[in-house]
Amino acid sequence: MEQSPEAVWKECLDIIRDNISRQSFKTWFAPLKAVNLENDSDLIKLTVQLPSRFYYEWLEEHYFALLRKTITKVLGPQGRLFYEIVIEKGDAETGYPNATTQLPARQPANEPGGPPRRLPPSGPPPSDTSGAPRHSKPPQSTPAGPPFGPRGTPHSATGNTPAPIANPFVIPGLKPAQIDSQLNPSYTFERFIEGDCNRLARSAALAIAQQPGSTSFNPFLVYGGVGLGKTHLIQAIGNYLKANRMAETVLYVSSERFTTEFVQAIQHNRVSDFSLFYRQIDLLIIDDIQFFGRKEKTQEEFFHIFNALHQSGKQIVLSADRPPRDISGIEERLLSRFQWGLSADLQTPELETRIAILQRKAEDDGIEIDQDIIEFIAHNIKSNIRELEGALIRLLAYATLRKREMDLPLAKEVLRDLIKTTRVSLTIEEIQRVVCEYFVISEDLVRAKTRKREVVQARQVSMFFCKQLTQHSLKTIGLHFGGRDHSTVIHANQSVENQIETNVKFREVIEEIRHKIELRSR
Ligand code: ADP
Ligand code: MG
Repeated sequence: MEQSPEAVWKECLDIIRDNISRQSFKTWFAPLKAVNLENDSDLIKLTVQLPSRFYYEWLEEHYFALLRKTITKVLGPQGRLFYEIVIEKGDAETGYPNATTQLPARQPANEPGGPPRRLPPSGPPPSDTSGAPRHSKPPQSTPAGPPFGPRGTPHSATGNTPAPIANPFVIPGLKPAQIDSQLNPSYTFERFIEGDCNRLARSAALAIAQQPGSTSFNPFLVYGGVGLGKTHLIQAIGNYLKANRMAETVLYVSSERFTTEFVQAIQHNRVSDFSLFYRQIDLLIIDDIQFFGRKEKTQEEFFHIFNALHQSGKQIVLSADRPPRDISGIEERLLSRFQWGLSADLQTPELETRIAILQRKAEDDGIEIDQDIIEFIAHNIKSNIRELEGALIRLLAYATLRKREMDLPLAKEVLRDLIKTTRVSLTIEEIQRVVCEYFVISEDLVRAKTRKREVVQARQVSMFFCKQLTQHSLKTIGLHFGGRDHSTVIHANQSVENQIETNVKFREVIEEIRHKIELRSR
């Protein structure tokens, strides 16, 4: 029977969906399309189209075994997966063609069908999230674009240096035109904690740092609300390149500064200097481009700089506080340029990431801080990372100034007003609902008389969370559980705490429920 590539791929997707998280499925598999299915010698080849080479590397790195198993299951042992990487760059103005590359999926080493292969020029895989500096050389050539900027840019001391370009980023007294990159050295990958909220953006940023200008993420645009790590992440790319001496000139600039400098250049008749200056940058990072909105002249200048850099394989990294399409007053031709590359968003961090960030921050600052304080802050401050750090600093300052022990009561006292605003919405009913959903029992049962084992457990866990997460008295809590008295609540709380201490599985269950309550009470 003739099968269509779509039908076969759909069957594969159904299997894959059951084996990975929803988020991973959405990110890595949902966008892929099957484009071909053919019998070739003894093999049945299914070709799937990928939007970038990064996808290829990511799939091969993380989902190799799953894909292999799935293909075998659906197509039999003769089944083989092929990728077609199509990078859409079609653009009348520059005449860039769409770039297409075809690659077979890797085979296990002992199977016929060729040795395991990796892309020859690919550097360390993007999944390497250690953030440790590497000395990978930029590739010679890749299907995705020209190699990163030519060595020996005009400002190198080669003798044929053109007249110095007036620019505001020169470090006085250093070699001619040594540009101060304006980076904050503490914004590194090392210090950027990974979580579900930032995984895609972080991996892509790291891939770019390892092969600037030659991934298909050019430009790379990170967007998200305030305090979620945009500035940190885009600067991490710059710091990585500098640490590994992979670029001669890296420049970080806010869009406001870019605009101001441009306006001054106009006033002083130095627009061509301005323009030349930016064209010699190997990695140009512009932060908060939402401020370009409605600034037509600035956008026009940026557009030309963008084209010049992009065409010579230089990397452009941008950030914005919202998706570019939602920024009002950005020209269409710029928006279409942004689509050449990758946009990735940063979301509000989940509990585990908040905890990890606080732990890391305390460690970096050499502060000893109890886990329960860290968890307290992480549970209560949710909206963004800057506030999270702010809470920790505030607590530290308070403890130092008042010469007080940094313990949980102090943390509660200091952070009370910060927290009040975030916790108002959490009610006893809400906790009961989440817990009962988790244990799959009806909510009425925790308020009823029954002493069935699973109901008692759900009741005790609910009481425990009510005591932990609301300001209600034990008496009030008891009343919401079918009029039980406060000693029952104390007993429940004690029992749950004991089990948390002694039973790892149970502790995980509690954390999972806590996380669910968290999500509800946002
Ligand atoms: P934005 O530019 O999105 O407003 P920032 O990059 O200024 O946010 O981040 C705010 C603060 O939070 C900075 O101090 C930054 O170092 C820190 N931060 C953000 N994301 C992370 C992360 N994933 N891991 C560690 N620190 C982070
Ligand atoms: Mg910022």
